[in-house]
Amino acid sequence: MVSKILIANRGEIALRVLRACKELGIPCVVVHSTADADAMHVRLADESVCIGPPPSRDSYLNIHQIVAACEITGADAVHPGYGFLSENAKFADILDAHDITFIGPTADHIRMMGDKITAKTTALELGIPVVPGSDGEVKTEEDAIKTAALIGYPVLIKATAGGGGRGMKVAKSEADLIEAWSTARAEAAAAFGNDAVYMEKYLGKPRHIEIQVFGDGEGNAIHLGERDCSLQRRHQKVWEEANSPALNVEQRMKIGQICADAMKKLKYRGAGTIEFLYENGEFYFIEMNTRLQVEHPITEAITGIDLVHEQIRVASGRGLSVTQEEVTFEGHAIECRINAEDPRTFVPSPGTITHFHAPGGLGVRIDSGAYQGYKIPPYYDSLIGKLIVHGRTRVECMMRLRRALDEFVVDGIKTTLPLFQDLVSNQDIANGDYDIHWLEHYLANHPA
Ligand code: ADP
Repeated sequence: MVSKILIANRGEIALRVLRACKELGIPCVVVHSTADADAMHVRLADESVCIGPPPSRDSYLNIHQIVAACEITGADAVHPGYGFLSENAKFADILDAHDITFIGPTADHIRMMGDKITAKTTALELGIPVVPGSDGEVKTEEDAIKTAALIGYPVLIKATAGGGGRGMKVAKSEADLIEAWSTARAEAAAAFGNDAVYMEKYLGKPRHIEIQVFGDGEGNAIHLGERDCSLQRRHQKVWEEANSPALNVEQRMKIGQICADAMKKLKYRGAGTIEFLYENGEFYFIEMNTRLQVEHPITEAITGIDLVHEQIRVASGRGLSVTQEEVTFEGHAIECRINAEDPRTFVPSPGTITHFHAPGGLGVRIDSGAYQGYKIPPYYDSLIGKLIVHGRTRVECMMRLRRALDEFVVDGIKTTLPLFQDLVSNQDIANGDYDIHWLEHYLANHPA
């Protein structure tokens, strides 16, 4: 059982988890850096512990301080949120050694999915479709040329230790490949301290579609449908939808079942997301995230299932609250990520929020720690809130989103709200007709 939860995160996700704990009547503790002493998650918590100075490595990533905070407050479980320590296998091991429950999967599963080649091999073994590519690491230029000839150009060179869309190079021909080969390895070494690379077929116009899965760690697992996160800038998701405008019910249930079955075989525990590129009706596995995702609320909107409640239930050994047959998908949901950034250049815009008015009404949810007078610290990522809108149909959802965006006021800093006002009125978006490159093209053609 879990009797007291420490939330090892900040910002909107710390607040999100705090809300779930309060609803479940589970005492909880939040932690914060000195820069976050006035943050909403600290203000609303019954108990808080300052764990260090502003830089993340000294506070939110400081494992010793977090374990010490558990010990002094008597917390017997940790919810890591997303980012920070959420996919850190060593952290999961250390908590285990201290008899503290990590609200997430086993350290072994985190490790397995954290290495790209192991993740891909595992996916293949579990019956998940993957992008055609090299059989593991490609070690020499000769191997790269042979592999590319087998896969067919264009090909993509990817870093084994990659993350955040970094360390990738496209080659359209053998000449390209020879040129890209050494730069790709050098960049991987510089960015990740590991120059191992592998190769994949480069897909030209895919969508990013991901499946939410949940396992109880005992061999039961379900899927909660998909999210379409194709609208990205520099591989960062900007706008997400559930369901995907590109899939029908049969496709959803088929890929969902493949993922749920794979998680059963793995005896996966907790929340996970299996990410795919989707092109011409085919799914290609790219990675699995072994944690809660930023965009989880759109899945909550269409299924009515609170994913954080479910994570805590599973971590307490109480299993899943629903069977696959009981999961239903109602209507359509869209999430907009509100960042403290210039809406065109995306340059961060920290500072004080002088006026804050969040929209409300039926089908509108705001997950945000922002408030009037809040000073956004410059040390962390620029996500200040998420607007999640639900409607019975996609059309109703878009109408409601337009209205909600009109009501939203954030003064004193720049935010990405104006970008969403443009997107909600765009014909391609209205048609659901976009791929992972759409937003970059749009931004290039609609400068400030
Ligand atoms: P990371 O862990 O760095 O985010 P991913 O493997 O998840 O790496 O890929 C990040 C992004 O790169 C994808 O969302 C997609 O936009 C692009 N990408 C990855 N693999 C391919 C591929 N085979 N073809 C085309 N684009 C790809």
